Amino acid sequence: MSIKPRTSTLAHAVLLATAFGTVPQSWAADVASAPIAIRAAHLFDSVKGTLVDAGVVVIDGGKIVSVGSGLAIPEHVRVIDLGDATLLPGFIDAHVHLQSVSTDSWYQDFYDGIMRFPAEQALYGAQYARQTLEAGFTTVRDVGSTDYVALGLRNAIRAGAIPGPRLLVSNYAIGATAGHADQDPYPPQRIAPAGPIMGVCNGPEECRAAVRYQIKYGADVIKFMPSGGVLSLTDPVDIPELTQEEMNAIVGEAHTWKRKVAAHCHGDLAAKMAIAAGVDSIEHGSFLQDDTLLEMKKKHVFLVPTLFAGVWVGEKADTFPAPIAVKARAASAQIQQMFQHAVRIGVPVALGTDAGVEPHGQNAREFALMVANGMTPAQALLAGTANGAELLGIADRMGTLQAGKVADIVAVPGNVLDDIRATAHPLFVMKDGTVYVGPH
Ligand SMILES: [Zn+2]
Repeated sequence: MSIKPRTSTLAHAVLLATAFGTVPQSWAADVASAPIAIRAAHLFDSVKGTLVDAGVVVIDGGKIVSVGSGLAIPEHVRVIDLGDATLLPGFIDAHVHLQSVSTDSWYQDFYDGIMRFPAEQALYGAQYARQTLEAGFTTVRDVGSTDYVALGLRNAIRAGAIPGPRLLVSNYAIGATAGHADQDPYPPQRIAPAGPIMGVCNGPEECRAAVRYQIKYGADVIKFMPSGGVLSLTDPVDIPELTQEEMNAIVGEAHTWKRKVAAHCHGDLAAKMAIAAGVDSIEHGSFLQDDTLLEMKKKHVFLVPTLFAGVWVGEKADTFPAPIAVKARAASAQIQQMFQHAVRIGVPVALGTDAGVEPHGQNAREFALMVANGMTPAQALLAGTANGAELLGIADRMGTLQAGKVADIVAVPGNVLDDIRATAHPLFVMKDGTVYVGPH
């Protein structure tokens, strides 16, 4: 192994920067180490959940050094003045699928999903990652991908090779044969059925192995499927698809390895079992009953409601194969009502969209849907910032604008509490101190 001199690494990085038309974050701190002050008419304080005027954030070397209202800016500091806008922490989406595509045709999406080579999928994924970042989402959690595509994206983004949000990935989602994680569409004589390495497990020991395989190949989080899903052909949407012993094995093993566990649940009984097993979040939650929501509040289990996906599959139901259309209509009819109950009860909520089921880069529509279903604009913003950071286990570095945290900063036009839909039009996006949208 030879160690390259610093100059040669930098020269290589410059070549990369030219090729991709952007600044790789791996050396961004070298070229932009001078402090910068970002100023706007408003600033959202996601510690208190309130808005302050005359917001200023001073950053240096990719970190926030000071934040405040009307903060004096030292003379030598360059100022980016965004005018009548609101500064916020970079948005966090706790539920995406960066390799999945959503067109007008379920059949086309299904065909592309199984026929594209992993390298081809990764190139599409790179486009989706860029769209997601440019939409103001500086951190996202990918909860289910195949062929390690999301993992590859995570590593390439982390190394500065491509622009994209900071990624936490689960690799394969884990579930039983014939369940929502078993997406092998072939008759049994054509191809060997998937096993634990690809997330398909039966019995507690296989389920433990499935968790270990995902971790062995780099998973930051474990995603599993206690209940049926909407977009799979063979399983009812609301039944439990794993036994209590299997769920206990998955959650216990993941927690031993210090990985959080996200549970895909539409059905209420499956959610009750998953909560008893000790999960950290329930994703979707379409048919959750009030007693289950109360239990989540008591145990501080997050709800990741994916309202955007619920609306989307409801609108597209007529284009789906008949068994999926029935499930899509049923889940879509319930999810918003369930969310209204969750808000009234006070369940902790983290924003998640299921982007990939619907097109990428429109993640901020979830904010407006949460407000339309009972949250205040400030509560919705907390769900997509501080709460997301807490659920992902990164609250020490992200989720709020505070001194010492990573410089992930978004600005949207006007006063965001007056119009939550402004979140869909970010005019400034910074991640790790590098500007991806707006004035540099
Ligand atoms: Zn999903």
